[in-house]
Amino acid sequence: MAPLIIIGAGLAGWTTVREFRKLDTTTPVVVITRDSGDFYAKPSLSNAFAQKRTPEQLVSTPAAKMADTLQVTLLAHTQVDGIDVASSSVHTTQGDTAQTLAYSRLVLATGAQPIRVPVQGNASGRVQSVNSLDDFFSFFYGLSPRGTCADSYQFQSKNIVIMGAGLIGCEFANDLAQAGHRVQVVDPSTRPLAALLPEPAGLQLQEALGTLGVVWHFGATVQAVDTREPADTADTDLPALTVQLSNGQTLPADAVLSAIGLRADTALASAAGLACERGIVVDAYLQTSAPQVYALGDGAQYASAGQRTLPYVMPIMQAAKALAATLAGTPTPLVFPLMPVAIKTPALPIVVAAAHPAQAGSWVADDEASHGLWRFLDPQGVQRGFVLTGTQTTRRMEQARATSL
Ligand SMILES: Cc1cc2nc3c(=O)[nH]c(=O)nc-3n(C[C@H](O)[C@H](O)[C@H](O)COP(=O)(O)OP(=O)(O)OC[C@H]3O[C@@H](n4cnc5c(N)ncnc54)[C@H](O)[C@@H]3O)c2cc1C
Repeated sequence: MAPLIIIGAGLAGWTTVREFRKLDTTTPVVVITRDSGDFYAKPSLSNAFAQKRTPEQLVSTPAAKMADTLQVTLLAHTQVDGIDVASSSVHTTQGDTAQTLAYSRLVLATGAQPIRVPVQGNASGRVQSVNSLDDFFSFFYGLSPRGTCADSYQFQSKNIVIMGAGLIGCEFANDLAQAGHRVQVVDPSTRPLAALLPEPAGLQLQEALGTLGVVWHFGATVQAVDTREPADTADTDLPALTVQLSNGQTLPADAVLSAIGLRADTALASAAGLACERGIVVDAYLQTSAPQVYALGDGAQYASAGQRTLPYVMPIMQAAKALAATLAGTPTPLVFPLMPVAIKTPALPIVVAAAHPAQAGSWVADDEASHGLWRFLDPQGVQRGFVLTGTQTTRRMEQARATSL
């Protein structure tokens, strides 16, 4: 019998296998991934600096142990470069070796890719983004050279320019500033997390991160990144890069981190003829437009979420459970509960339960004195979302109960 094949060894891929193995211990499973397959919690990438954790220390379970425990055949460092739904097979390459593998069922857990905007300048190639452990290795050791012992590094305070004041940009700003780096954030909007938070909550975060030393450049974008002029490079302590902003300012930088968002990776699926829009389109059973082919995780666009992508941990846990049951023979529709997201900005802890973007309504501050609770009310006065900041984040459960989906 052809195996169940899962493409991707991120949270979506591994969680699906783990849930599936609770229900079915005999069906052969093959996991194919272009990375190492090591298991790590991706959210820890944006709070590792302050905790002084090296990239190596973020691996919670090595790939071989995952494969052994879950009884799967793991094809790591292997790229799937084609899916043939007519013959139920995938084509892979690993170095010079190409292979065609048949599947009985196929799961696409291929994640998302960082959005890239054009940046001019002779060092535009040095703009980095962090969406995987491999990315984090490069970013981390670019700032802090390896020490003499395994897992050790030499901390040096660096100038870091972050493009984007969204969720990931703000988390990195907090983490890097707390670790002792000099952080400047550039964003075309007027405040942090402008798309997610009511204005006063965004301003609270702006102030809290400002207290940590984060410098904000709103209403601006990064236009160009260049290496410092040769005449200046004699002083090796000077930052190596200059960052030109659209407002005419020039910032010194040792590193430029782009955190302007992610886009579902639909390349493989759409080349195979699967329906894709903002993500790989899946129905309530996580089935794509092709029979026996399923998708979940950052790459999927969920019917169960009003055709949204949901690039967060909790939706993956829910989706993996439902999909595992379906794959094990009990067709199970995915029903999302309310899933508030905790934003990892310890300078100002925040919990957000966002309403569907198409939901009409407005933010209402609950208590002007406490400045820490905003409810999103629809035109009938029904609560559809909320934001909690600071000490109010302890009211998460209470507010979740008061919110209607
Ligand atoms: C810095 C950061 C912090 C975050 N913090 C939080 C948080 O605090 N809370 C929260 O809820 N969410 C957070 N998220 C989001 C959350 O981590 C993601 O939603 C989740 O990890 C995505 O998992 P995934 O398995 O869908 O994708 P990925 O982890 O991207 O995995 C995709 C996998 O597919 C493989 N792959 C892709 N294409 C191919 C191919 N063609 N062939 C072979 N293999 C392929 C890749 O190698 C990889 O193994 C954060 C994200 C980031 C980047």
